Amino acid sequence: MIVNTCGFIDAAVDESLAAIGEALAENGKVVVTGCLGAKQDFIKNIHPAVLAVTGPHDTPAVMHAVHAFLGRPRPAPHDPFIDLIPDIGVKLTPKHYAYLKISEGCNHRCSFCIIPSMRGDLVSRPMAEVMSEAENLVRAGVKELLVISQDTSAYGMDVKYRTGFWQGRPAKTNFVNLCRSLAELNVWIRLHYVYPYPHVDEVVPLMAAGKILPYLDVPFQHASPRILRLMKRPASAEKVLSRIAGWRETCPDIAIRSTFIVGFPGESEAEFSHLLFFLQEAQLDRVGCFAYSPVEGAAANDLPDAVPEAVKQSRRERFMKLQAKISAEKLKAKVGQKLKVLIDAPGAGRSMADAPEIDGVVRFSGGRAGEFAEVLIDRADQHDLHGRRL
Ligand code: SF4
Repeated sequence: MIVNTCGFIDAAVDESLAAIGEALAENGKVVVTGCLGAKQDFIKNIHPAVLAVTGPHDTPAVMHAVHAFLGRPRPAPHDPFIDLIPDIGVKLTPKHYAYLKISEGCNHRCSFCIIPSMRGDLVSRPMAEVMSEAENLVRAGVKELLVISQDTSAYGMDVKYRTGFWQGRPAKTNFVNLCRSLAELNVWIRLHYVYPYPHVDEVVPLMAAGKILPYLDVPFQHASPRILRLMKRPASAEKVLSRIAGWRETCPDIAIRSTFIVGFPGESEAEFSHLLFFLQEAQLDRVGCFAYSPVEGAAANDLPDAVPEAVKQSRRERFMKLQAKISAEKLKAKVGQKLKVLIDAPGAGRSMADAPEIDGVVRFSGGRAGEFAEVLIDRADQHDLHGRRL
């Protein structure tokens, strides 16, 4: 069994360690990979029975560990003339959707995050390589591509947006161009981890034109200018609010997902209230919220005025209570609408506004995984929509 881990915040570390424990209890043969894999000794101290611990983004090491355990030599490279399975890489998602990683690493230095120290600066994959993987996935039956990286909208910045080639045409390595190229594949394209750089505005018309999904996952993290500065994040809340208004003007159906951290060191009650005000104004569709927890090696650990644990938890509850109300209202507004959904399992699918695993689902009766369906929504609960297939 392969366990992919995250070392982003303490809650994720705990979750990853628990997942390793569960996998060992269930299967006994476990290879650990992902971010937390960079801390080999830490994992082996807690779970000495794991077969191997590999670092982030190291598929060869994972495959090596698996083959070493099976006692088999490593397979020969893919040969299209003799291999029966397509060369689409290791894919752990259902057949109808897949994650498309476009770059690795990050040039930001957010003070609460240690990802750059584990994964290094931004390294963008060449356009041709990304597009050829995307085309292979679509040929293999994928209906939805989820574009991911640590900083999706920075794509190409490290290579100075150099010109690559795709389908014999010159293609600049940048975020907007990548979105335009992916749009030509005629499948659902969903954008995750989009830092709100100004050029993000240029992809919203593609969403309005139905070329890519009207969905933006933008981690805002906070709204108070001082806290954003302490977090070493550039955006200002007022600008963000007017950007959101602009996105909605261009594409009224856009669904915006974000994540926030409350209880960051020094966060005063007034700054937290500022965040609640922002949340009320922004009317985001889906929101995740973490209570700040120090991560070993993060610069924020040296900041003064830690917020007491009880205050952090109470702020998180207040934040989520407000957002639950906003999300519920947004879902209620969909009652009576006909939504196109991609079916994940009989009776459950996702609309354009729902990413797998993190957002809600649309429930109805029947259907087969991987099919599209039209569903008339007749009810909404706090997270999900319910309806009947047309
Ligand atoms: S943008 Fe900030 S939070 Fe995201 S990976 Fe980079 S440093 Fe970490």
